[in-house]
Amino acid sequence: MKFKTQLLHSGIGADQQTGALTTPIYQSSTFTYGNAAEGKARFAGEHPGFIYSRMGNPTVQALEQQLAELEDAEEALVVASGMAAVSSIFYALVSAGDEVAFIDPVYGGTAAFLINTLTRAGIHVSSYRSDDDLLANIKAGTKLVLFEPITNPNLKVSDYRKVIAAAAKTGAITVCDNTFLTPYLFKPLTKGIDIVMHSATKYLSGHGDIIAGVIAGKRQLMQSIRTIALKHIGAPIGPQEAYLLQRGLRTLALRMDAHLAGAAQVAAFLAKHPAVAKVIYPGLADDPGHTTLAETVGAYGGMVSIELSGGFTRAARFLDKLHLFTQAVSLGDLESLACHPASTTHAAMSVTDRQQAGVTDDLIRLSIGVEAPEDLIADLAQALAYT
Ligand code: PLP
Repeated sequence: MKFKTQLLHSGIGADQQTGALTTPIYQSSTFTYGNAAEGKARFAGEHPGFIYSRMGNPTVQALEQQLAELEDAEEALVVASGMAAVSSIFYALVSAGDEVAFIDPVYGGTAAFLINTLTRAGIHVSSYRSDDDLLANIKAGTKLVLFEPITNPNLKVSDYRKVIAAAAKTGAITVCDNTFLTPYLFKPLTKGIDIVMHSATKYLSGHGDIIAGVIAGKRQLMQSIRTIALKHIGAPIGPQEAYLLQRGLRTLALRMDAHLAGAAQVAAFLAKHPAVAKVIYPGLADDPGHTTLAETVGAYGGMVSIELSGGFTRAARFLDKLHLFTQAVSLGDLESLACHPASTTHAAMSVTDRQQAGVTDDLIRLSIGVEAPEDLIADLAQALAYT
């Protein structure tokens, strides 16, 4: 079945109890098991059936079945946020004394969790400048490697083939944060990556109305992540959010096609504009990540970053003149968003760490929405005229 068809049919069937065509919202914290023997059997895992919504809920289960099929995964888990996904993966799979690695930059919240919180649990965290750096210098005994194929926020491209080769040297588990690409454009598990995760707050749900995270992979790994995420951290998604995520997924392909087309047009315009010092968009032929992404994914995403020389002051002047682009963090919504990562999403990082990761004060990140690209270009042109 083609992915576009799967979006409407995978894991979704008429509700067995009522025949409802879309998955009903089972808004219940607990589920009766009727009698003591059945309760005992459900808790022992001998009988199927729902017990308590922190551990499982029919609306969430339908969504997880759909996502497992979309990711070609044995199992998928939906949690309360992208950060719940990140933290659950690490808490489930590494222990005190272990060494973990990530390719810089990653989303600022992920970097802060790894550097400030995970290290307090006695886990050694190393960052690498690039996939080549990781391949050449991965530390002996590394247990887990996290990377983003297109990084947040400066759209640096990492080659999953180099990540897999590096991880193979130490037997490390590979984790791909695929928030920027989605399974419509790239399915890491089919390429040999062990775990894929998303901030489903972004393109997967697509409407800017929920916070959610997704993790998918082999059953054996997923079972320990599920236990940590739901039973111990206690970060389930609620049934209302699960419903909205499933509804958003139905239009993922349509939305992504519009994001991609818009980003390509906006980037082409900005690349020719004299006021823009640098355009970062891997779809441009001279972008350092272009060839890798062309070979590995064949699409370039819906994000465009630019640098205006002049630091925060000039960036702010430009941002404050935009009308159609809304100044807000997050990305992958229907409407276009703009932000200054160094003073917002990545502000918690030290100046040195930001500079090393290429998150400069000149950098502005644009999430291209599904508006008419010519309107977005006109908005950018008028705001650039003031800089
Ligand atoms: N991963 C990436 C690439 C992100 O951009 C974000 C948030 O911006 C996250 C993870 C965290 O996701 P959430 O905000 O849903 O917790």
